[in-house]
This record gives sequence, structure tokens and C-alpha cells, in this order.
Amino acid sequence: MTGNVLLVGAGPGDPELLTLKAVRAIQQATVLLVDDLVGDEVIALADPAARVVYVGKRGGCLSTPQSFILRLMVAEARNGERVVRLKGGDPFIFGRGGEELDHLRTHGIDASVVNGITAGLAAANALGVALTHRDHAQGVVLVTGHARTGGEATDWRALAATARQARLTLVIYMGISGVAELQSELLTGLPGDTPVALVQDASLPSQRCVTTRLANLAATVQAQHIGSPAVIIVGEVAHAASLPEALPSWTAAARAQG
Ligand code: SAH
Repeated sequence: MTGNVLLVGAGPGDPELLTLKAVRAIQQATVLLVDDLVGDEVIALADPAARVVYVGKRGGCLSTPQSFILRLMVAEARNGERVVRLKGGDPFIFGRGGEELDHLRTHGIDASVVNGITAGLAAANALGVALTHRDHAQGVVLVTGHARTGGEATDWRALAATARQARLTLVIYMGISGVAELQSELLTGLPGDTPVALVQDASLPSQRCVTTRLANLAATVQAQHIGSPAVIIVGEVAHAASLPEALPSWTAAARAQG
């Protein structure tokens, strides 16, 4: 008998944010392939007899090549296993869920997706900010700050200009490592005093929220030691997250240092 694969969204970290469908899938799985950003409390829901394979960068190892993960999912399903591919957030927001589903279906494997709460939404909730508050925004864009190597780079100038004209909130994933460049690109289309909020480890006990303005984004990340995983929210809605009215004193210090 052939098995199947479920791509399951593990949410942003807090196990209480899992869907009932996700919990059931995790409990019934015979094999789990687990990404980096999935918390231990989520994995603890699995049957103790199930095989858990970590395919992220845990333990300082290099992440497992994507081609290996794809082959493994197909092989396990053909072996009759009930495979759960556990991914942080929602499987279809970044994180290659789309590619994985295409691959499985091309190989004739029964595959489907269980939604999870994506990090950007958990971050907005952490801030108490409505991403589409109608006084401030007409919509929201989920965008990666880290375009695929060799792929087409994001046209930040166009995006910033559109965000301003069309009143769109930007929710930027994977934006921390390239934050200085991100800031200067966004400043080509958005004013320096545009409200920005950062949320690291949304929904986890280690969660941190910081607010700033676009002109101070990179300096804030540095001064406040914001690291991955974090989401950057850019737009008027971030103002609701109790933004400092004056520029903080370390901004002047950072400027003085050049
Ligand atoms: N599929 C995931 C996103 C994977 S890309 C989702 O839907 O959430 C990885 C990026 O997600 C990280 O670089 C970071 O920007 C964001 N991220 C994931 N978990 C996060 C968390 N708990 N808090 C803040 N950002 C998070």
C-alpha cells in the first residue's frame, strides 16, 4: 500500500497556534521530516514510535540538500509511510512548500497541505497591529528580503513606490541579514519617517518587539541585536505599535560614528 505526504504548517512556534488538523496529522504520522524553525513542543506531539528526521541546520550541520528531502519524501511514501513534512509557519508562504507539492504530485504521490499561521501574522498580533487597518492600509504584501540565489532580485524601488501610492503594508521575511541594503532601497520610494516594527521569535517566550522609523531600521537592528528569525513590518499600521516620537539617542551616536 502506498503512503502519503502531508505538508503541515507548524505555525510560528507556540504549539497552541497549531490547527487541530495539524495536531492530528502529527500524531498519526509514521515519519516526520522536520525543518529548523519547528519547536520541540510541536515535535513532542508525535507518536513515540514515529521516526523523526531533522532536515534543517540543527546542531550546526549544514542544511540538508533540498533534492535529498524531495527524494526521501517520495521514497517513504512509496514504502507505505504516513509522512508529515513539518514546516515553520504556513507551508505555502516561502519555505519551498510549493516546490515540494509539485514534486510529489509529479511523482504520483498523494500529497496535500495543512495550513499554519505564518510568521508575519503572528508578528502583527505580537505588536497588536492590524495589517490592513482601514485607516492606514488597503492591503498587505508578504515579501522576502532574501531573493533566491541566481534568481531575480526584488525590485524594491517599485515596491516601495507602490506601497506608498497604494497604501500597502510590507511584511518582510528573511530581511535581517541584508537589512542595510533593504533600508536604502526602500528609502528610494518611502519617506524616512515611515513607521517600522520588528518582531523576533514571534509567539515564543523569547519574543521581542522593537519599533523604529525606516531611516533608522538598520541602526535599530544593530543596536537592539535583532537576529533571525524576525519579521519586519513597514507602513503606517506599525505606528499603532507605540512608536517612539523622537529618534532614540543611540541614533545620533550611530550617525556620529558615520
Ligand atoms: N513558512 C514560514 C516562513 C519561512 S521563511 C512562515 O510561513 O512563517 C523563514 C522566515 O520566516 C524567517 O527568516 C523569518 O523572517 C520568518 N519567521 C519564521 N518564524 C518566525 C518567528 N517565530 N518570528 C519571526 N519571524 C519568523
